[in-house]
Amino acid sequence: DPRLQAISRAIRVVPDFPKPGIMFQDITTLLLDHKAFKDTVDIFVDRYRDMDVSVVAGVEARGFMFGPAIALAIGAKFVPLRKPRKLPGEVIAESYVLEYGTDCLEMHVGAVEPGERAIVIDDLVATGGTLSAAIKLLERVGAEVVECACVIGLPEVKDCCRIKGKPLYILVEPR
Ligand code: 5GP
Repeated sequence: DPRLQAISRAIRVVPDFPKPGIMFQDITTLLLDHKAFKDTVDIFVDRYRDMDVSVVAGVEARGFMFGPAIALAIGAKFVPLRKPRKLPGEVIAESYVLEYGTDCLEMHVGAVEPGERAIVIDDLVATGGTLSAAIKLLERVGAEVVECACVIGLPEVKDCCRIKGKPLYILVEPR
């Protein structure tokens, strides 16, 4: 896809953020580039439009920057998966292991019905721990996770291409 090169180029790499040694992939510069941002959303929309998806679940915070646009275009609902103590209603929670310590995602009870078909969207997949927690949340309420979608993925995960048995769709590799 000729659009992918420009999408990749629109992502800024910030060395040593948030700590030394990390090459942070900054998608805020992609959001500034109207053509690259629109192409990113369009590629996902074209992929999921005819897959009978009724739920787009976005991972806080950068999944919120792509998910709602995709949900609106394919006629699905958007469901935020949030960090602890952000959602005001009754929630279910899934913890996951990070390099140092653990983190947790929460989802509102009642946001997704049993049998609904869902995709999970985030900006970047590294170990897949975050997406695994997202899949678990959706499966606990009886939804079917059709696929996980990320703008950026490491070549390793790009090749293995599955998270908890679910397909993983990635647009570009880190720069
Ligand atoms: P994983 O759980 O797959 O190891 O890490 C993925 C999560 O970490 C995503 O929610 C993603 O937003 C965040 N993340 C880790 N490194 C980066 C990075 O370099 N750039 C961005 N934008 N997000 C990152």
